[in-house]
Amino acid sequence: MDNLPGRVPSPPAADPDRPMLDALFLGPYGENDGLLEKLMVEFLRDHVYWRRNFHPEDPPAIPTHAAQHPDYKAFEARLRRELHQLSASLKRSVPFHSPRYIGHMASDLLLPGLAAQILTLPYNPNNVSEDAAPVTIDLEVKVGLQLARMLGYPDDITRADCAFGHLTSGGTVANYQALRLALALKAFPVALLAAGVPELALPADDWAAFNLGPAAGIELLEHWQAWLAAQPAGERCHWRDAVQAQRLEHLGLVEFFARHRELRVPVVLAPITAHYSWSKGLKLLGLGRDQLQLLPERGMRLDADALKDALQRCERERQPVLMAVAVLGTTEYGTVDPVDAVVDARDRAQARGLGFSVHVDAAWGGYLATLFRNPDGSLRSRAEVGVGFAHFPQPEVHAAFAALGRTDSVTVDPHKLGYLPYGAGAFICRDHRATALLAEAADYVFHDTRATDYMSRYRRLGQFVPEGSKSGAAAAAVYVTHKVLPLDHIHFGRLPRQTVLAAEAFHARTRRLADELDGIAHVLVPFAPDSNLVCVAINPAGNRDIARANAFVRTLHDELRCDPSQPLQLKQFFGSMTTLQPEALGMTEMRRILSALQIDPASLGDGDHESADNDRLVILRHTLMNPYLIDHENGISYIDLYLEHLGRRIRALLAGMPA
Ligand SMILES: *Cc1c(COP(=O)(O)O)cnc(C)c1O
Repeated sequence: MDNLPGRVPSPPAADPDRPMLDALFLGPYGENDGLLEKLMVEFLRDHVYWRRNFHPEDPPAIPTHAAQHPDYKAFEARLRRELHQLSASLKRSVPFHSPRYIGHMASDLLLPGLAAQILTLPYNPNNVSEDAAPVTIDLEVKVGLQLARMLGYPDDITRADCAFGHLTSGGTVANYQALRLALALKAFPVALLAAGVPELALPADDWAAFNLGPAAGIELLEHWQAWLAAQPAGERCHWRDAVQAQRLEHLGLVEFFARHRELRVPVVLAPITAHYSWSKGLKLLGLGRDQLQLLPERGMRLDADALKDALQRCERERQPVLMAVAVLGTTEYGTVDPVDAVVDARDRAQARGLGFSVHVDAAWGGYLATLFRNPDGSLRSRAEVGVGFAHFPQPEVHAAFAALGRTDSVTVDPHKLGYLPYGAGAFICRDHRATALLAEAADYVFHDTRATDYMSRYRRLGQFVPEGSKSGAAAAAVYVTHKVLPLDHIHFGRLPRQTVLAAEAFHARTRRLADELDGIAHVLVPFAPDSNLVCVAINPAGNRDIARANAFVRTLHDELRCDPSQPLQLKQFFGSMTTLQPEALGMTEMRRILSALQIDPASLGDGDHESADNDRLVILRHTLMNPYLIDHENGISYIDLYLEHLGRRIRALLAGMPA
């Protein structure tokens, strides 16, 4: 048995995390069906009893014999028919649950979240406000605090500067919210100045007001609120309206900048690897795509020197900066930007009078922060985190996670590495007081906001968030998951730990594949994974041309992608694909990778002809989210199976024969 392909040769050492991990999901084979079914039946009945116990004296409105009526039966027949069809067609879905799925950022769903979401659905809470969600709205606000703690933000609601977070439909909308909040905070001091508010210590001019920076901006907002509250009633209304009339949110971008001619529309600085939601966000806010300045990477991380240069240029040209974005786990490569260097750059620029916010797009990598947290919320050292790993975390990666608490806001996607159903992204800001500027009702904006009001303030959630009606069931799902699996290394952290271990095993096994294919194809992991995404570059031996290498990898990938025209079972594995561009890698790295693959760098084109496919290198991309990639029960490694499969396909394609 031990010599069969994919067999783990000797029984693996007992893994202390295993027993808990075994209970977390429905499972690749539906192993935990009994548990889920028991919970579903129990809580459906529980819901029905709740309905009956509201006013038990009310008789059933639907007659007990209704089900006998032909129309009822016809309806039921149609319902069943359509559900059967739906259920049948859903069998063509992507098998995210399977350890043979290592494609995009999706995997099985955590049972606590799935059960909590299904349990909550029939109550149908709407988290727009407490009137429609007396229970789940508090859960959403608490989710914000749970995530804040994971990131190293203050999570004690009695603190004036406590963090605040809420859910969104996804990371895209969370990124919009980051832009909206940063813009409100940046423009508010300019409005105070324009309104001519007396007695407050205001910045000297528009440039200084627009560049106060987030911390001083929040402080000024506090002073203004206190000053306003101390005015006699008539004065209070006057000044409230006068400031409101000068705000960017009131005037719109066009009028605001027409009135402040010495200010230019601010730019957003983001790495070239940033998700396309940033481009969408700048368009949506009316700032314009032109205001998104993409910075180069070096060694797969945002180039801190390029950021420094960009900031110096902005300062020279008096070009305001709205925010700098660092990505914690890039969508394409799972790499981690130097968050520490970005907040340092913010602090230095601030000291020179160029203020802006730092936002971390951790839609993908956010939950990896659990590996870096103790249950008491303190940070673990690099050595502590690294126990059991070959390389993780690199010093740069540890420094990036350690710096999260110094940023201004973060996006995290519970529906990615939180293993929760879709419709669950999250936005978290470090100091909740800034959200007063987002509130829709002006009277509330200038309301006293003592920390003791924290929960009641955010029970009017719809005031602060981009969306209106929103799912309370999703909030319940995230909350219950974080309660069952607290966001520290000994609870939730065991899950990402498995995935990083899988990435290290995958990396090592790919190097073996490279040896096995010596003389047949060059196989390379182009850069060591920062987290749990592993890319593989391949070039047939003897080929020097990048376009031909790309065509070969595209053919390999075609076999690894979803194909609804074929029975699912014909698919052996699911993988995904991405590309490496010189702009993202830097030319030095690009040359290193091309030369390791023995591709002639001169064949790298400039992309003038789109059809040439030679301006970037096409590579395979693997997202290792499934915790059962190494099946200890049966001694099977799906990582080995996959790379053996890949090796066979490479040989077969090169031999020009079907597999
Ligand atoms: C996935 C992702 C997003 C977008 O999130 P959605 O939930 O798909 O809207 C944004 N940024 C990064 C880094 C991502 O990985």
